[in-house]
Amino acid sequence: MASAPVTTARWGSPHVLQISPYVGGKPISELARELGLDPAGIVKLASNENPLGMSPAARAAVIDALGDTPRYPDNDAWTLRQTLGRHLDVPADWIVLGAGSSDILDMAARAVLGPDASCVYSQYGFLVYPLSVQKMGARHIVVPARDHGHDLAAMAAAVRDDTRLIYVANPNNPTGTLASHDAIAAFLAAVPERVVVVLDEAYVEYLEPEDRTDAIALLRRHPNLIVSRTFSKAYGLAGLRIGYCAAHPEMAALLNRVRAAFNAGSMAQAAALAALGDTEFLRRSHDLNRAGLAQLQSAFAAMGLEYVPSKGNFVLVRVGDDDAAGARVDSALLRQGVIARPVANYGLSRWLRVSVGTEAENARCVDALRHVLGGTR
Ligand SMILES: *Cc1c(COP(=O)(O)O)cnc(C)c1O
Repeated sequence: MASAPVTTARWGSPHVLQISPYVGGKPISELARELGLDPAGIVKLASNENPLGMSPAARAAVIDALGDTPRYPDNDAWTLRQTLGRHLDVPADWIVLGAGSSDILDMAARAVLGPDASCVYSQYGFLVYPLSVQKMGARHIVVPARDHGHDLAAMAAAVRDDTRLIYVANPNNPTGTLASHDAIAAFLAAVPERVVVVLDEAYVEYLEPEDRTDAIALLRRHPNLIVSRTFSKAYGLAGLRIGYCAAHPEMAALLNRVRAAFNAGSMAQAAALAALGDTEFLRRSHDLNRAGLAQLQSAFAAMGLEYVPSKGNFVLVRVGDDDAAGARVDSALLRQGVIARPVANYGLSRWLRVSVGTEAENARCVDALRHVLGGTR
């Protein structure tokens, strides 16, 4: 049962009162409850989760780490940071862990923003950016997107005297757009070193080798850069909340000042360590995603639906020509047992974001979409 709307105006600071809390994808259990559906028959393609689940090695590591639960986790995450350092070819003191990489994105805001500062990000940029900026009472500089992607030249040009932070998602969620290595390199060269740049690479493991930015090479040249990554997507550990970033030691030390104590739990650390070693699982996740992207995009094309070609594990597809289309088609899909992601909160009210699932899940989604769009397709 929904509770009455809560008035928070008595306590909140003015900028906090303007925040609309982050809304995640609808959980399977919630839809099952609402519509009296069998949870087993519901397909959730709403949160860019890994349809293969998690690495068996990571699962075993979690079970093994259960016994550590009464003790606090290693706040330094020594073993995991050493391993991540080797993985990225940087010293361990270049690595900072987060409770998911959203935590890293937020730490950057906490470390450098305040009411006297501004932050640059792109229209259609990941929704955590405006939330972290607003929380700090800082000003937003939202740069219009170009072909749904980041206009990096315009973003560099938008930097003002009070700008202290820029977020770049590559690829971006929810659009799936990618900037090339050269474009990112030129962007970093154009941004003054006093401005911190967060390069959010949550989907990097899904990229083909030729599409990848050599972020670590750029990091060596730019002490103002933070490269963030996550175990939530290709590694399939979204529920454990673990992510990380690489940055120069001075920047890493700055982030550690605002990092919440014990933000990476022991099971999360153990799972991440094991997941890093399971390259076979990662390869399967990558390959399944590549096939699924092709499956979804060719089905959308065959239905005459416009979509944004994606480099992530999701596709943004236009489901109608009026501003209620996204919400309408989303509700109709829910009644078919398919959970997609409405993106009106990004200003994309004619579109839905569909995460790549297994071949069967993708097919279910496409069939449901055909059914819902009916005679018009
Ligand atoms: C999913 C996502 C993240 C990370 O989420 P966490 O679960 O907090 O690691 C970060 N950036 C983008 C663009 C994402 O889509």
